[in-house]
Amino acid sequence: MDILKNYIANRWADSKEKQCIDVVNPATREVLGKVPYGKKTKTDIDMAVTAAAKALEVWRETPVMKRVQPLYMLKQLLEEHIGEISRLITMECGKSFAEAKAEMQRGIENVETACATPTLMQSEFSENVAFGIDEFMIRQPVGVCACISPFNFPGMIPFWFLPYAIATGNSFILKPSEKVPMTMMRVFELIHQLDLPEGLVNLVHGGKDSVDAMLDHPGIRAISFVGSTNVARYIYSRGTENGKRVQAQGGAKNPVIVMPDADIEISARIVADSVYGCAGQRCLAASNVVLVNDSKGNIKEALLEAAKSKLTGYGLDEGVEMGPVITPESKVRIEKLIEKGKAEGANLLLDGRNARIPGYENGNFIKPTILENVALDGEVINTEIFGPVMSILNMKDINEVIDFVNRNKYGNMACLFTSSGLTARTFRSRANAGNIGINIGVAAPMAQFPFSGWNDSFFGDLHGQGRHAIEFFTQTKVVIERWPREWSRKF
Ligand code: NAD
Repeated sequence: MDILKNYIANRWADSKEKQCIDVVNPATREVLGKVPYGKKTKTDIDMAVTAAAKALEVWRETPVMKRVQPLYMLKQLLEEHIGEISRLITMECGKSFAEAKAEMQRGIENVETACATPTLMQSEFSENVAFGIDEFMIRQPVGVCACISPFNFPGMIPFWFLPYAIATGNSFILKPSEKVPMTMMRVFELIHQLDLPEGLVNLVHGGKDSVDAMLDHPGIRAISFVGSTNVARYIYSRGTENGKRVQAQGGAKNPVIVMPDADIEISARIVADSVYGCAGQRCLAASNVVLVNDSKGNIKEALLEAAKSKLTGYGLDEGVEMGPVITPESKVRIEKLIEKGKAEGANLLLDGRNARIPGYENGNFIKPTILENVALDGEVINTEIFGPVMSILNMKDINEVIDFVNRNKYGNMACLFTSSGLTARTFRSRANAGNIGINIGVAAPMAQFPFSGWNDSFFGDLHGQGRHAIEFFTQTKVVIERWPREWSRKF
């Protein structure tokens, strides 16, 4: 099997690193490819930075209206190939084909939003800030920008950054997750058709060694990272220590609250979709589900039914709603956390361990699981499980809920289901999380809004997507100008 190539200076080239790891389909355990992984990927990064720096010379001077033209073509190419790319996402990442397609759609929407860069990048001008003096601010590109992405959205997350970076005049290096590098390989084949300047966008494979090389490379000016909190914190501190701009989006543990005045059936279905979508491997997956005054257990019953109804299997098979988790190690880790939840006193209402999926006996499957009355002072309640596990808690009122939400060390998302506008307003105002959903299960901001994680879910100032991306990928320059009348007489 061939080793995946890097894409540097508009050419596919072998990595300098000969050591590889397997890219494995998590449902079938079939090896899909071999990805370079080791110390010599540092040399690949050097080569990519050289190419990207060269591309900048002309690109930063290219009018913004011309810089967005390739994005229109990219949107069209991505739309034409969405089925094929989504299939690849399912094969290497495990989510259902429908989920993969929805992911790509979100990616494409970022390309569309970045097409508005000529307007979004416009700046401010004040005439006569003093007599005869004008002042204005312009936005200029930052330079060579790099992105390090996680395994769970191989088709979408690079687009939170890439289209904005190049539209604002930067060049770009992407390092996809070594677990799911094939999706972006195909996307870059399409990008190749855009005939962009050599080195404007580059793809380099690898793991920690290539990331460290990016963090230390003096030629890279900005880093966009999405992944787990520990790595995000590390990327932020090492990157900023080296004088780079860094935006690092991290992990999560999302609370979703169902008030007694919410519609039981609709809320239960949406909450279950949030918990079990992508097998719980979403940074916006509901995890701690708080039922308020559910003394008769009606909401709990509806959640149980919704969880049981999810068809688990290979994401390319008809009707499958939930796929496997990414690796055997993830499966073991999640199963241990379920056991830990029990040991901490929870009732295992639905046990998805030992899942057997006919035809896919070796896959990393866990079926929907529910832990009830998880200990408030235990480990499970604070740990990002990143698997198909719902933890149910019972509380008495909105104040108790808000205290609970605000004790969370993360702050990626908090959602509330209610029919009361007042309760919703109180919640959205007081909950300490950056993405709030009211009667929404996955509060994923659309491309024109920032993906606004807080606390341990984000390190930096400017998030991915929309205007935040435009600001992240540009530096402001303020010019104060005077043209004295007396001087002009001299000419
Ligand atoms: P991860 O942190 O293991 O890996 C992310 C990237 O970092 C990969 O490209 C990987 O090669 C690199 N990496 C891993 N360990 C590293 C290290 N020690 N030093 C340097 N680089 C390293 O994350 P993952 O398992 O791929 O993704 C899942 C995590 O991402 C979850 O925690 C999830 O919540 C989070 N996530 C967050 C968001 C968000 O917007 N906040 C979105 C998607 C996923």
